[in-house]
Amino acid sequence: MGLEPQFSYWERSSFIDNPDVIIIGSGLVGLSAALHLKKSEPSLKVLVLERGFLPSGASTKNAGFACFGTVSEQLECLQHSSEEEVARLVNYKWRGLQRLRQNLGDSNIDYQQHGGYELFMADEKAYADDQIEKIPYLNNLLKQAIGTDNIYSVASNKIANFRFDKISWMIYNPFEGQIDTGKMMRVLLNKVYDAGILVLNSCSVTGIENQPNEIQLITSQGNFKASKVILATNAFANQLFPDLKVVPGRGQVLVTKPIEGLKLKGTYHFNQGYYYFRNINNRILFGGGRNLDFEAEATWDFGHTKKVKQQLITYLNEVILPNQNAEIDYWWSGIMGFGDDISPIVKQVEPNVFCAVRCNGMGVAMGSLVGEEVAELALNS
Ligand SMILES: Cc1cc2nc3c(=O)[nH]c(=O)nc-3n(C[C@H](O)[C@H](O)[C@H](O)COP(=O)(O)OP(=O)(O)OC[C@H]3O[C@@H](n4cnc5c(N)ncnc54)[C@H](O)[C@@H]3O)c2cc1C
Repeated sequence: MGLEPQFSYWERSSFIDNPDVIIIGSGLVGLSAALHLKKSEPSLKVLVLERGFLPSGASTKNAGFACFGTVSEQLECLQHSSEEEVARLVNYKWRGLQRLRQNLGDSNIDYQQHGGYELFMADEKAYADDQIEKIPYLNNLLKQAIGTDNIYSVASNKIANFRFDKISWMIYNPFEGQIDTGKMMRVLLNKVYDAGILVLNSCSVTGIENQPNEIQLITSQGNFKASKVILATNAFANQLFPDLKVVPGRGQVLVTKPIEGLKLKGTYHFNQGYYYFRNINNRILFGGGRNLDFEAEATWDFGHTKKVKQQLITYLNEVILPNQNAEIDYWWSGIMGFGDDISPIVKQVEPNVFCAVRCNGMGVAMGSLVGEEVAELALNS
């Protein structure tokens, strides 16, 4: 299939023909890669192809936690990864967050550092005791990763201030923050446009053909050619490269209507990180529940299930905002890319085709660096 004849000479010459690099996917990783390519080699022609009307994976649908992991998440990682590997990943997320803030500017992304909390329910005493006992060990293990040894501390005495119910223990981490996800993606897109990078939406890539001197992309809008291609399609990576070890994981999220006198500020996790909530302006954003049915949530389909929705509503009304009858204004879902290995996949998949996928649900923290890494790989191969 050739390019559709309706493209004018002007459209072809200014929008379509001869990019040096095509990036598939306009999420945080794809756009960060595009910017890094252009910064490193300003003469490169970089084109981003995005299948959605907006970026349509995780980057505009996440919770906006600028986090590097709770105590239970770190201990869970240590069950199947070495201490060095866990510390390396925390350092990577920490540096990724600094890079995101440097690149985009704290005020542009509404970065606020109210700290992060991990909550334990009243019926989790043995589990909470065990996690709390391991705080000194983790603080020591991770002190080099973020440059301080006072990362986690017990803060159960603050529970009453937040008016939670059924919560008996709390761990605090002052180094975590939150951003406005929408603002992050808008300012990133603006930077991409300012750098002279073109982003074309509603263009789904359905095939990649390695030809003698170029890569040809088959898309819903016709064929495109480039010398190099970067795949930044995260959860959807297997649709083009079935061998990549990426499993999709849907995250269902709600945002309440504004709540008068809302006290709570910060990012909060419970149930080993499977549930998370935060304040956004004077509302609560609350998501999670993938663990209720891993199989059903390992999907590329956006949407909701009754089971997860019901559990989120129950926790919202019984634990987070007890007796307040909070009304819900928004429901949405986003798709993350997971794998057994805790690190993202940044590698060459074919000659002149590179991938940067699988941020394991932590791409706000890692995405800027993952994008830079794949751009460097493409530039130097
Ligand atoms: C509900 C939810 C909450 C989250 N909360 C947090 C958080 O608080 N903190 C944190 O660090 N991380 C969080 N994450 C994870 C984070 O959002 C992701 O790790 C990150 O956005 C991944 O960025 P990406 O660019 O790799 O992927 P994506 O943003 O998914 O971008 C991939 C893009 O590729 C496009 N695409 C796919 N296939 C094709 C194709 N064939 N052709 C063209 N385009 C294609 C998609 O439409 C999509 O826009 C959350 C994710 C979700 C879903």
